[in-house]
Amino acid sequence: MIESVNGDKPCVLLIEPIPSWIVDRARDEFDLIVLPHESERPAEFLENTDRIRGIAMPGFAKVDAALMGLMPNLEIIACFGVGYDGADVDYAVQHGIAVTNTPDVLTDCVADLGMALILATLRKIVEGDRYVRDGRWESEGILDLSNSPRGRCLGIVGLGRIGLELAKRAEAFGMEIAYHNRSRRDDVSYTYHASVTALAEACDVMALTCPGGEATQNLIDAEVLSALGPEGYLVNIARGSVVDEPALVQALLERKIAGAGLDVFAAEPTVPEALFTLENVVLQPHHASATIETRTAMGNLTVDNLLAHFKGEALPNQVA
Ligand code: NAP
Repeated sequence: MIESVNGDKPCVLLIEPIPSWIVDRARDEFDLIVLPHESERPAEFLENTDRIRGIAMPGFAKVDAALMGLMPNLEIIACFGVGYDGADVDYAVQHGIAVTNTPDVLTDCVADLGMALILATLRKIVEGDRYVRDGRWESEGILDLSNSPRGRCLGIVGLGRIGLELAKRAEAFGMEIAYHNRSRRDDVSYTYHASVTALAEACDVMALTCPGGEATQNLIDAEVLSALGPEGYLVNIARGSVVDEPALVQALLERKIAGAGLDVFAAEPTVPEALFTLENVVLQPHHASATIETRTAMGNLTVDNLLAHFKGEALPNQVA
């Protein structure tokens, strides 16, 4: 719906979910049209598309060429998130539309959840919780032993801001670090592998912290999972699109890998039902950056990027 109509303010389409207090701040600055994520396009929106000069959107929301094509006066897309794979950046660049994101402010919280998922899977934390609540400790005795992270190798796919912070946390738990990027970093001493398969063969836990989008679509497929092997764990805090999800489900069902900690999925919020019955899988609802502190900082940065654009100032976080 259109929340206010004031010709003096730039009109911005805000795609949810973005925290309500950030929407309130945006409402003070812009004429807002608010659309739920992946919603139908209501008449109110379609009648006002020529007024829209900016979009605020979660980085994974789908803003494709067809949607942008409805907005002839669109100037900027401000992504709420460091990932911006939901936006058709090529179309934006071709049409002179700026794209911004919110890096750095979320790095610590995302790395924290990555480490939490490593511990939760290896140490059977969620499984143990269920075991106690279901009364099985009393009826069946002690739970099976878990695995220590200490001495195991963490293979990071995407050793960027989040990957580096995850590496620091994992080192504190005694893990060795290896990684795969398209290019070797010259500022770290961690072991580099030129392919994800080679990394999977070398590591015990593979963590995904690379961007989503076409370049990484199904990067982790049946072959990589097979290389990770029956003692190997997968942790995904990147994007669901990075993993061939049916192949992952199959590998987990057939115990071709030991377990998985998953924050992101191919068709969120739908999660393959087969995963719900597996004790060796820990599931999160795309929650890695979801702390009040981090989401507030991300939201403020999103609004700051829009404001800078409309004031004609340099954009704090321009990616295209
Ligand atoms: P970043 O600093 O840009 O790091 C990305 C890393 O991925 C870089 O080291 C990059 O190295 C590597 N990379 C890029 N394309 C690759 C490819 N095709 N194959 C292998 N490696 C590749 O980004 P960041 O701030 O750490 O964020 C990383 C991603 O985390 C985001 O894009 C987002 O999708 C995801 N994320 C998820 C959540 C969540 O809620 N679960 C929250 C925040 C972020 P090279 O360029 O050398 O390849």
